[in-house]
Amino acid sequence: RQEEKKEDSSKTKVYFDDVAGLEEVKEDLQEIIDFMKNPEKYNKMGAKIPRGIMFYGPPGTGKTLLASAISGETNSNFIYASGSEFVEKYVGVGASRIRSLFEKAKKQAPCVIFIDEMDAIGVSRSSDNNSERDQTLNQLLIELDGFNRYDNIVVIGATNRIELLDEALLRPGRFDRHIYIGNPNVRSREEILKVHLKNKPLDQDVNIKQLARKTHGMSGAHLANIVNEAAIFAVRENHSSIGNEEFNKAIERVMAGLKNKSAVIT
Ligand code: ATP
Repeated sequence: RQEEKKEDSSKTKVYFDDVAGLEEVKEDLQEIIDFMKNPEKYNKMGAKIPRGIMFYGPPGTGKTLLASAISGETNSNFIYASGSEFVEKYVGVGASRIRSLFEKAKKQAPCVIFIDEMDAIGVSRSSDNNSERDQTLNQLLIELDGFNRYDNIVVIGATNRIELLDEALLRPGRFDRHIYIGNPNVRSREEILKVHLKNKPLDQDVNIKQLARKTHGMSGAHLANIVNEAAIFAVRENHSSIGNEEFNKAIERVMAGLKNKSAVIT
């Protein structure tokens, strides 16, 4: 089933235009995109493609989306993996999965390997005694050191907790570019709402700027969720377009979810 998921994710192409806001981050990533598009130009100069990028920051802020957009922009394959797929009881299983992941990537190059939830495998080796996880992490380090920089493979990791990651993973030559992706500000929220409202029928008096102001502290994932919930409310009410009332109900529902979550955490 994991295979199916990966195959699917490589088929749905996402581009930078689908990622709203994050302008500075997108600019930062242009260099990688140029590397992947014109490897000969860099090879001639003896310049090597940066190997690993670590996206970090709160959940739902577009890390996966952005990684997938890099593969869209460079017309390369996208291989998705989650750190939790490599967490196994039996020693050696996680390491062997890491090996297969990189073998697959070599066959599919040029490609972007995206490993979400890096903390599941990348927590500091000294923090506890878990030989299965240590082996998995060691294998990942071996693969990062071992693949040829001219292979045109970029590895992107993502984590909500970069401070937990083993330093060896973040060293130069490995995941050495650390890019923070935070919750969107009011302008970015407006942009994100626009992306998700594209092609949806709206009542004339819906004010996206105002919606952006009302959704302070929310991530892109929350905003996508609000738009979807509002559309569902509109269908239920038999309306032909989405109105302010539906948006208010959707915001309330998502806010309530957020409050419940923080109540559980605290
Ligand atoms: P996690 O840390 O939980 O893995 P993430 O940072 O990888 O989360 P994504 O999976 O990329 O978050 O985002 C979830 C969804 O939220 C996206 O599929 C998209 O619908 C929406 N979204 C998040 N950020 C943006 C954005 N900047 N522009 C447009 N949509 C966004």
